[in-house]
Amino acid sequence: MIAPPNPAHFRDPALRPIAEKVLGGTRLDPADGIALFETSDVLSLGALAAYANARKNGDRVFFSANQHLNPTNVCVLRNTCVFCSFARLPKEDGAYTRSLEEVYQEAAHAVGAPTTEFHIVGGLHPKLRLSYYAEMFRGLKERHPTIHIKALTAVEIAHLARIEKTTVEAVLLALRDSGLDTMPGGGAEVFSTAVRATIAERKLTGQEWVDVHRTAHRLGIRTNCTMLYGHVETAADRIEHLTMLRDLQDETGGFLTYIPLAYHPDHNELGEEMGRVGSATTGYEDLKNVAVARLYFDNIDHIKTHWPMVTPFMSQVVLGFGCDDVEGTVVYERVYHEAGAKTAMHLPYRGLVELIRAAGKRPVERDSFYRPIRDAFDDLEEPPVAGAFAPSVHAA
Ligand code: SF4
Repeated sequence: MIAPPNPAHFRDPALRPIAEKVLGGTRLDPADGIALFETSDVLSLGALAAYANARKNGDRVFFSANQHLNPTNVCVLRNTCVFCSFARLPKEDGAYTRSLEEVYQEAAHAVGAPTTEFHIVGGLHPKLRLSYYAEMFRGLKERHPTIHIKALTAVEIAHLARIEKTTVEAVLLALRDSGLDTMPGGGAEVFSTAVRATIAERKLTGQEWVDVHRTAHRLGIRTNCTMLYGHVETAADRIEHLTMLRDLQDETGGFLTYIPLAYHPDHNELGEEMGRVGSATTGYEDLKNVAVARLYFDNIDHIKTHWPMVTPFMSQVVLGFGCDDVEGTVVYERVYHEAGAKTAMHLPYRGLVELIRAAGKRPVERDSFYRPIRDAFDDLEEPPVAGAFAPSVHAA
């Protein structure tokens, strides 16, 4: 356990009363959260968040052997989610829709690998019905009986309910019966109505996103939650978003982890409008979004860094700023690479172990519910030389 930081030493005096609350176990209020986002004293912020994380997770840092699958990039909201670089219209260049056999072939990479989870998300295809996904999940479970299926964002679930003319609950029940185990947290973006009107005007509202997750939790389907930061949102918007997530967690306890997602400006309309092509969020913003989340979410155990967005280098740094999960091997990452991410598509298992160890932390391979699978790695092949986890530059 690390020693608590001394608030008297904090450079920003606005952080001192907040630190006293954290050290005393008092929940932070929205004004505290905004002050945390507005500080430039990231080292004090990080020390406080690292302490809060150590109280929950000790020196463990989790990772998973997972594989992403994106069955289609065709999406009916392609022209209105202006931050998105992944989606295509049905006849647009680069549009693809996988047959079930193609999904199974891609998933077959998991054979012989230590993969424990498929993470499956895609666009809102106008013609792919509930039966396509139900059959996909059944087929994947037949071929990989021990695999965990984490699939379909709240936005995809709501879309399926709409085209099937049924309820979110009916869709979730059908998918759960077909093999869906948990849901990812994507599609949340920023809940603020004004922000959504600017970046995703036809996407389901923040309240509707929360309602889908509330329904999933009631059905015993645990989920993740996210926020897309680094575009037009304010600190107040971010805290309103985090507060809505924290409130739902108080009510259901169904969230497994929170993942701050960094906006990437390449190849999308919003990036062009903002004149921000080629650069993503700043390091300060990446650090703050992890640290503030760790301090604000007293009721969510885990904060995950998504290395394909912020780079493995930044993911390693945030392990000292309150983060306890570095995502996983991923294998094929398409969503952020379409938006200009320069990271590799895949991090090797051994590379993840070394990345965590080099940050002075204890790697633990986890399953999808954060139960430890493995925490001793001495029989892995010789560790790679320093920097061996460095991402190759992806030719996007
Ligand atoms: S963010 Fe999701 S819903 Fe919006 S266009 Fe992209 S794939 Fe479609």
